[in-house]
Amino acid sequence: MNFYVMTLFPEMVEHGLSTSITGRAMEKGIISLDAVNIRDYTKDRHRKVDDYTYGGGAGMLMTPQPVYDCYRAVTQKIKTGKMPELSELDDDMIPDKKSVRCVYLTPQGEVFNQAKAKELAAEESLILLCGHYEGIDERVLEEIVTDNISIGDYVLTGGELAAMVVCDAVSRMVPGVLTNEMSGVGESFEGGLLEYPQYTRPEIWMGKSVPPILISGDHAKVDKWRYEQSLERTRQRRPDLYEKVDSSKKI
Ligand code: SAH
Repeated sequence: MNFYVMTLFPEMVEHGLSTSITGRAMEKGIISLDAVNIRDYTKDRHRKVDDYTYGGGAGMLMTPQPVYDCYRAVTQKIKTGKMPELSELDDDMIPDKKSVRCVYLTPQGEVFNQAKAKELAAEESLILLCGHYEGIDERVLEEIVTDNISIGDYVLTGGELAAMVVCDAVSRMVPGVLTNEMSGVGESFEGGLLEYPQYTRPEIWMGKSVPPILISGDHAKVDKWRYEQSLERTRQRRPDLYEKVDSSKKI
């Protein structure tokens, strides 16, 4: 999986993803990350990337030209393997919207979830576009965006954190990123349920014991207990998810 994040703050995205599991996956070459600075593609003499909004109102909006040329650079890199500078953009290479998905992180998008993470993990490359200030001129969004994704019903200052959330969750679904010891099997949202409670050593902590069934060695009983716990936890904490569980699966 190759992630291309178009942003005004590439170092934020690089730092956020270069440690721990995603960092190791990058070192191993299972995923790659190109955080591309939209400002490097502005034609403005003062390297400006934003301007006032037509119709008035507070705040600045990102202008279409730098975003579009940054997108052209990324699609050219995907085709040729080399990231061109602004002056090296090939006018004969017309970006094809259908060839690679371009996700705009926006509070106006479809709310991100595990199913979407799995779906996106099947792509070979993904472009993620981060807005800042008041957002981005609508015309360039119409031109390049294939998916609008929100990470929740609140407004962030920029799309960078949201892009990192999407890259992280998608990466975990790419084969080889999680080792066997941390497999995604049985995890929350698998099968529409939250995960059961988990325990590690010591067996007694602050006077509280681990549920005895977990040390019984009876795997069938452990599985049954975990499933019941998953159901109960989902019912209590996420009634919206519980409602969608097939009634034959409810005990
Ligand atoms: N004026 C816009 C919000 C701009 S917030 C509106 O009302 O829709 C600035 C940028 O932060 C956005 O362009 C977007 O990229 C990002 N952003 C803000 N909230 C987000 C969310 N919940 N999910 C994903 N991206 C978000």
